[in-house]
Amino acid sequence: MLVRLVYASRAAATIGEHDFNAILKSSREHNQAEGITGLLCFNEGVFIQLLEGGRNAVNARYKQIIDDARHKDVILLAYDEIQERQFAGWAMGNAQLSRANRAMLLKYSESAKLDPYAMSGKALIGLFHEMVSAGAIACS
Ligand code: FAD
Repeated sequence: MLVRLVYASRAAATIGEHDFNAILKSSREHNQAEGITGLLCFNEGVFIQLLEGGRNAVNARYKQIIDDARHKDVILLAYDEIQERQFAGWAMGNAQLSRANRAMLLKYSESAKLDPYAMSGKALIGLFHEMVSAGAIACS
C-alpha cells in the first residue's frame, strides 16, 4: 500500500549548492532502491520534501531523515494513504522555486514568500503539482 508524506525543515547550517546536490544524489540512490519517489525543494534555508512509496519504506526513510543533523525543526505537514503515485517520474526531483512565478506562489500562500510553516500540506502538494506543470523540476 502506498502513502504520501510531506514535511518541512530548516537547514541546521549553511547549505551550499554542493551540499544540496550531495543530499539529492544519495537520496536518489536510496530511493530508487526502495521504490520511493518525490520532490525536494530548498529555498532560503528551508527544505520542503514530498515522499511517496510503500508505507514501510517511506516511514523508515522519514525516520532517518528526521535524525539527519543537516536540518532541524522538522514539521510533518501531510501523511496520507494514496491510490496512486503522482510524482512517479522522480526518485527525488529538485523542485526549483526560482523557476516558479509569483502568481503560482500567491495561489497557494498568503504571500509571495514561501513559508511552509504557515502553509497546509495540501497547499504545498498543490504548489508541487503546479511546479511540475510549469517544468520547474530538475532531475540533476
Ligand atoms: P549515510 O549516507 O552513510 O549517512 C550516515 C549518517 O551521516 C546519517 O545519519 C546522515 O544523516 C549523516 N550524514 C550523511 N552525510 C552527511 C553530511 N554531509 N553532513 C552531516 N551529516 C551527514 N535520504 C534518502 O535516502 N532519501 C531522501 O529522500 C532523503 N531526503 C533528505 C532530505 C533532507 C532535507 C536531508 C537533510 C536528508 C535527506 N536524506 C534522504 C538523507 C537522510 O537523512 C540520511 O542521510 C540517509 O537516509 C542515511 O543514509 P545511509 O544510511 O546510507 O547513511
